[in-house]
Amino acid sequence: MAEERALAAGCRVDLTGQTAIVTGASRGIGQAIAVRLAACGATVAGVARTLEGLEGTLAAIKAIGGTAEGHAANVASSADVERVVEAVEAKTGKIHILVNNAGITRDGLMLRMDEDAWQEVIDTNLKGTFLFSKFVGACMMRGRYGRIINISSVAGLVGNPGQANYSASKAGVIGFSRTVARELASRGITVNVVAPGFITTDMTGALPEKIKTEVKERIPVRRFGTPDDIADLVCYLAGPGASYVTGQVIAVDGGMTA
Ligand code: NAP
Repeated sequence: MAEERALAAGCRVDLTGQTAIVTGASRGIGQAIAVRLAACGATVAGVARTLEGLEGTLAAIKAIGGTAEGHAANVASSADVERVVEAVEAKTGKIHILVNNAGITRDGLMLRMDEDAWQEVIDTNLKGTFLFSKFVGACMMRGRYGRIINISSVAGLVGNPGQANYSASKAGVIGFSRTVARELASRGITVNVVAPGFITTDMTGALPEKIKTEVKERIPVRRFGTPDDIADLVCYLAGPGASYVTGQVIAVDGGMTA
């Protein structure tokens, strides 16, 4: 049954018996990752700011016979993150996989950007990644095994006018991950970065059609990515077969940064 479920979801990685925390699991890329990890057998703890927001993800996981629970938390709050990690560890014993996916944009040209727009994006995208890695990392150290996958962006690799805050936060995630990969490697914990290009979700849905057409022309494969394109790679990196891959940044962008 578990094998059929995994194959139906296009997943050949066996995560049976493992526990995964996925932040920003209420929609978009995080939802696809949570469902995919559950389809591969992991018990998933999905995190978003409200439990109501997570209902769709939990229902989708239940529908494929998977196991999941939701946790309301602000990833930028140390107290929230500690509470979630303690609850998940108390319930499942070990945390094997962490996907730091929660992220926001507050776009605007740098000269007009106010401090709140700067700080909110840095706090959610970068500090949130640090906090979850810190608390889950301690748990993984005890188990001498772990897979941390941080979702950055091509905007962390190349500049994007109007996204100074977002670009800085996503470049920060890359530097953070490379360092933590070196710090944790000897304990069986890998840390990798997935840098999506233009993926169809709520985050990109609001862009004007004109911009979307222009963006598509810059993508060699001539299409936007889907959340499942990201989930495929995350699932591989989360699996036992990726034990020799650490500290890497992999763009899933249709060749945009090639
Ligand atoms: P999305 O549809 O806007 O979803 C963002 C997720 O993050 C939601 O689940 C949201 O949950 C959660 N979230 C936001 N702030 C949070 C906070 N303070 N605490 C807890 N959860 C929070 O975004 P997406 O397009 O799926 O993007 C997911 C990740 O991929 C982000 O890190 C984004 O930067 C990155 N990315 C996306 C694209 C793209 O083209 N879509 C490209 C490159 C990188 P609630 O609102 O329910 O709390």
